[in-house]
Amino acid sequence: MAKVSANIKIKGIVQGVGFRPFIHRLVSQSGLFGNVKNTAFGASLVLEGEKEEILTAIEKIRENAPALAYIESVEVTFSEKLFGFSDFKIAESEIGERKTLVSPDVATCPDCLRELYDKNNRRYRYPFINCTNCGPRFTIIRDIPYDRKNTTMEKFPMCTDCGEEYGDIENRRYHAEPTCCETCGPEVFFLGKDGKRAEGDAFSLAREMIKRGGIVAVKGLGGFHIACDAQNPDAARLLRERKHRDEKPFAIMCRDASEARKFAEVSEDEEKHLISHRRPIVLLKKRRREDFSHISENGYVGIMLPYTPVHHMLLEEGLSAVVMTSGNISDLPIIYKDEEMYEKLCDVCDGFLTNNRDIYMRCDDSLIWVKDGKEYFARRSRGYVPYPVTVEGISGKILACGAEQKASFAMSRDHHVFPSQHIGDLKNLETLENYEEQISRFERLMDIKPTSLVCDMHPDYLSTEYAEKRAKKEGIPLIKVQHHHAHMASCMADNGYFGKCIGIIWDGTGYGLDGKVWGAEFLTGDYKDFERRGTILPIRLPGGDRAAKEISRIGKALLCGVGKCEDESIKKLLELNINCPEVTSMGRLFDGVSAILGICEKASYEGQGAILLESLASEDEEKVYPYTVSEKDGMYVFDWRDMISEIAEEKDISSAAAAFMNTLVSMSGEIAGRISRDTGIRTVALSGGTFQNMYMLTRLEKKLSDMGFNVLTHHRVSCNDEGLSLGQLLIGAEKKI
Ligand code: ZN
Ligand code: ZN
Ligand code: FE
Repeated sequence: MAKVSANIKIKGIVQGVGFRPFIHRLVSQSGLFGNVKNTAFGASLVLEGEKEEILTAIEKIRENAPALAYIESVEVTFSEKLFGFSDFKIAESEIGERKTLVSPDVATCPDCLRELYDKNNRRYRYPFINCTNCGPRFTIIRDIPYDRKNTTMEKFPMCTDCGEEYGDIENRRYHAEPTCCETCGPEVFFLGKDGKRAEGDAFSLAREMIKRGGIVAVKGLGGFHIACDAQNPDAARLLRERKHRDEKPFAIMCRDASEARKFAEVSEDEEKHLISHRRPIVLLKKRRREDFSHISENGYVGIMLPYTPVHHMLLEEGLSAVVMTSGNISDLPIIYKDEEMYEKLCDVCDGFLTNNRDIYMRCDDSLIWVKDGKEYFARRSRGYVPYPVTVEGISGKILACGAEQKASFAMSRDHHVFPSQHIGDLKNLETLENYEEQISRFERLMDIKPTSLVCDMHPDYLSTEYAEKRAKKEGIPLIKVQHHHAHMASCMADNGYFGKCIGIIWDGTGYGLDGKVWGAEFLTGDYKDFERRGTILPIRLPGGDRAAKEISRIGKALLCGVGKCEDESIKKLLELNINCPEVTSMGRLFDGVSAILGICEKASYEGQGAILLESLASEDEEKVYPYTVSEKDGMYVFDWRDMISEIAEEKDISSAAAAFMNTLVSMSGEIAGRISRDTGIRTVALSGGTFQNMYMLTRLEKKLSDMGFNVLTHHRVSCNDEGLSLGQLLIGAEKKI
């Protein structure tokens, strides 16, 4: 048979994941000749040989690609023209238009761990061991293509031994860009309280300090953590004191899954996520809510397993679980530069376990629940970012600017939407600067120059201000999207849904079309448009913003609504209507009920009242309080007054907390049913921060499914405001701005 040549373009995540060595091994065995190289869109392969054999090789590439690779498409062009190759080689990277996908960071793989603890291996106890299957990626990449000179490893030229491994096709570090060893790579060191480098083994020093109840900063992949002994309540208390973090739960890092079981129940599905190469923090149910109250005051504890060699080496010699909280001060972005580490954390930490490999992209840990075997994100960040969310059928280059308190942005290049990592609250100047910096870094890494912008309608969001300024400066179109419409669109896009749906969108606050605060909305619509079809009777917030923290004020306002408030000053405020804005917010309803039940009167962190209420709710309570739903011109309003009146008389907090949520499930089922009868829509999307409440989410989902609805919930981006940018982007794409 006559020989042909084939030009093969492979798109997807194929760089930094051992793809070219894999191709080399596979093709070498086949007897075909040619070459493979990284290109701006992925990898490009030229093969020469018999057509049948080439086709077989392509099939094998698809079937046996390395675990971390993600092949999106393979395009093949055959030609009669031959190049006369006499072997198969890896060719120089081609730099051109950047269309490749950058890999997220990957936890240390089992092969590297084995070597790390093998006395005869030359990387025995070398804390930066990595290979083509694992190690830092997104957080060290400054530019593409993914070559060492474009990463923060540039300052560590490979030694001869590492160079040989890098160049040896049979080696599992073949073309692994961050390859290094003790001779040529970064090193770990320990700084004492005085900021001076301490003599001795850095790990022993850190470990001993933690075991003695001290607090140590640890440099990770995307920033610094602050660690202390998870089993030592005094150490945790000291950390809270120094970090001014009174009650907000800490995440912990356990040596392994069996250690995690000492803190919480771990199902088979949850273990899969704990040990996955993405290594998110998994929110796991404690056996008893009261357990480990120094770590978490609610029913869950966030646990992750070690994901760098440094973590593995820290958790040795009897230290099996440490608190691992973000190295930041209150709500500021996570610290990721050594220069800032000492200056900003010297009052919090007794020592610093750090190293001289720079972090380029700041990236917090991801935070998930496991629902139906899949991630249900509270925060989508390290291990997932910058992996795109694929939404078939959209096109263009759009930047969606997100919300404000849980800021994120999303950028698209045709059907790839790249949601950013966790950014934080833009109200802080440093966070805002970080937001703008991350946008420009994403634009470079993804090679996206947005031709249009989308933002929230809120006139005061700093993300809105950013979008307005930029649109003006660059002369590109900007559209503003209603907050809850964006939530609904986000859930639809998360599920690749393009029809019409009913959105049950519950959160704390979002700017409504009428300029009021919305947050307990029943919408109908699609990406193009929406209508508001239901909400709750407005809640008044005595003292405005003050009530968001002093949630007892909301409880009292609810009680005033049913004539049961005994606080004369609040009554007066409401009567005179001085600074008592009306909101339809599910978050505030939870706050108010939480206060009435005496669960939480002052929120020290966002959502505290609701989180504690959920954790106290009795699992088997079926009671539902009386309520009414009124209708006017096709708009349904849930009247909570009968319910509040009964809650005011409750003695059993667990039963009341459950009955309150059961009532919300019941009324949502009723309102969704009535909207469906009005419109014929049979799909419901559940989105907004309130759906981080697993009690509500699972029961409402079941209720709606039992009613025959097709129910959409999130699984690729967060249901809270962090996931909003995906929805904004889809709405922008639909409007073809
Ligand atoms: Zn490895
Ligand atoms: Zn080396
Ligand atoms: Fe929201």
